[in-house]
Amino acid sequence: MDGRILLDGGAPLLPHMHRLGIDPGAVQLLFLSHFHGDHMLGLPPFALHHALASQTPLTVVGPAGVEEVLERLLVLSWGREWTTEFRGRFQLRYVEAAAAGEVEGIEYESLALDHGTMGCTGYRLHLGGRVLAYAGDTEMTSPLERLVTGADLVITEATGPGKPHSHTGWEEAAALAARHPGTRFLFNHVYAGSLTGAVTDLEVVDV
Ligand SMILES: [Zn+2]
Repeated sequence: MDGRILLDGGAPLLPHMHRLGIDPGAVQLLFLSHFHGDHMLGLPPFALHHALASQTPLTVVGPAGVEEVLERLLVLSWGREWTTEFRGRFQLRYVEAAAAGEVEGIEYESLALDHGTMGCTGYRLHLGGRVLAYAGDTEMTSPLERLVTGADLVITEATGPGKPHSHTGWEEAAALAARHPGTRFLFNHVYAGSLTGAVTDLEVVDV
């Protein structure tokens, strides 16, 4: 597949894309890790942009129930017109993540991670001979270790110091990176302060 892949869609998604010069319509494949607001509340404007502006296709890969949850969010956001007017203006496809599969020419694996009562689906994407692992939100438990093992690049969270509830702590994140010296780690979801390897808002990283 040519083009860009979006990993989750928190708000403010569209203003950030515009500031970075990314055409939202060029993003036609989205992997959604879980249904918490900070990972999906940027999606209603993003989906509406696809419907009204670009009319380019969009495939959303997500946990079980992804279609029901996102459609509910889109109707909540745009009212009944979402279903009667907008939904039909572009090709929108939902795919529940399989343990391993291929979508839009991208080979992937998915893994259930520990994230409170919500849970989270982590992904390993095979891109140009390399493996990108994306965790979303997770505690530092064995599924995360499996997700990152052998990956070339990992995007995972490091929420704060100590043991944040249902998240990864800074010390745990640093130890994880130290256990996988051949893997590059980019940490996000940092809620205060910073740690080595953390990315910042709107940062562009070459890999
Ligand atoms: Zn979460």
